[in-house]
Amino acid sequence: MANRKEKTFRFIIVGGGIAGVTCVEQLSSQIPSADVALITASPHIKTVTNYRQVSKTLEEFDVEEQPSSVLEEKFPNLTVIHSAVKSLHTRSHSLETTDGRVFGYEKLCICGGGRPKLLTQENPYVLGIRDTDSAQELQKRLSKAKRIVVVGNGGIALELVYEVEGCEVIWAVKDKAIGNTFFDAGAAQFLIPSLETNKPEKDTPCKRPRYTTEEPAPGGSHTFTADRNARRQGSSSTEAGSALGPDWHEGIVLQGSEQGTRRVSLEYQCEVEKIFTSEELLNSPPQTLGHENVGSWPVYIKLTNGKTFGCDFVVSATGVVPNTEPFLHGNNFALADDGGLQVDDHMMTSEPDVYAAGDVCTACWEHSPMWQQMRLWTQARQMGWYAGRCMAAQVLSEPIELDFCFELFSHITKFFNYKVVLLGKFNGQGLGSDHELLVRCTKGLEYVKVVLSGGRMVGAVLIGETDLEETFENLILNEMDLTPYGEELLNPNIDIEDYFD
Ligand code: FAD
Repeated sequence: MANRKEKTFRFIIVGGGIAGVTCVEQLSSQIPSADVALITASPHIKTVTNYRQVSKTLEEFDVEEQPSSVLEEKFPNLTVIHSAVKSLHTRSHSLETTDGRVFGYEKLCICGGGRPKLLTQENPYVLGIRDTDSAQELQKRLSKAKRIVVVGNGGIALELVYEVEGCEVIWAVKDKAIGNTFFDAGAAQFLIPSLETNKPEKDTPCKRPRYTTEEPAPGGSHTFTADRNARRQGSSSTEAGSALGPDWHEGIVLQGSEQGTRRVSLEYQCEVEKIFTSEELLNSPPQTLGHENVGSWPVYIKLTNGKTFGCDFVVSATGVVPNTEPFLHGNNFALADDGGLQVDDHMMTSEPDVYAAGDVCTACWEHSPMWQQMRLWTQARQMGWYAGRCMAAQVLSEPIELDFCFELFSHITKFFNYKVVLLGKFNGQGLGSDHELLVRCTKGLEYVKVVLSGGRMVGAVLIGETDLEETFENLILNEMDLTPYGEELLNPNIDIEDYFD
């Protein structure tokens, strides 16, 4: 293998996603003379644009798909190789691509991302969403669909059920409340009315909300119907050419085959028991099928709450698994429980000269008490950036400390058209019963939750235009004892920003 090497690069980065591209940019600017190769399976690369540091740790940016030539023009010492890595040989410091070429490296960074954790493999009626291609496939299939079943309770499922129009959506979640990855039941209740109202046009607030939600019974279901008479006039839900990014659905029309009502029915606390074709269903014991006949849908899904639904297809939005497979054979990588490549506080894997960043890796250093890993754009960028710095620092024999961005978990996003900011242990992660919550909620306007432990703020969920993120971030980072303030902390009549200035 060593003899077949076409070329040996000082640095090879595998993966043209956010982590890989940021790593390349960082390395190439730190050591402009170094030979860098980016090997990526996808024809386009993902770049960060419009980067904005919102506060000490909060950041916002757009993600754009661009031709790799953009990167090569910027960094003359960079070579982009469009092929997938088939195998890695850490002992000979080389890797082989699917088109049969072998490249050597001095230092390698694996940024191969994740792949959807599909409910079932190779079922043409089960779709996962990962990249532009799969999002476009969803759009195509949706345009002919009358009913889909969405399974999952993370960010993708949340965005999808909100965005789909003209198609009935049955949403199966395994938890008691929606959005369990990001919220508690209180925040979920705050957001749920948005499912029965129509999407506001661009940023204008929705004028006709109707509230009819009740607490779901365990294993129970919940249906929301939007009043189509209140639909916006003449608006288009997409702008052609927009790239897949944090607002990945904005570039594609998520419109079903019907013009009528938008309906989302929730099935709580259930998982998928079985997925059948109509023939398989005919040959199986009688099912609870409601009013529809067997055979009227191409696929049927049986949930663990005993209900079976027919639909045009199932969207499996049950998370991602680290895409480690091509790199493992013949090597000795330490893997974390979630299947990711274990990395230390210098983004190094257990194999010499091999680093990893983004969705493919699992941060196995001792975390700051306010930080946890979540497979998100922001962390992919931060890890890629930091891995690039660590690789350069090692070559230049410079010391480097864990970056400040790993001090506090922070994420800014949008769900159901509300701004959402998550800070620290926003769901009391890992705190057991050793915490208390303060909540302030104004229906349709804002939801503010603060997590306190030992009198100190350790996390927060801010939904709506609360303008509290910077103050709360400071309070968390300063570890100030807030016991004297008690519930006044969330008193809407106190300008908390001035208070703690
Ligand atoms: P990826 O972006 O997955 O990139 C991996 C790269 O590796 C790709 O270029 C791939 O082609 C390449 N590759 C893989 N295997 C090989 C191989 N063997 N050889 C060569 N190249 C290879 N996060 C948010 O923060 N906000 C959101 O709103 C959000 N929305 C999302 C919506 C969807 C539909 C999905 C799927 C994810 C979303 N995420 C979101 C999560 C976010 O996309 C990921 O955390 C992030 O993209 C991870 O970046 P990455 O660079 O590690 O991996």
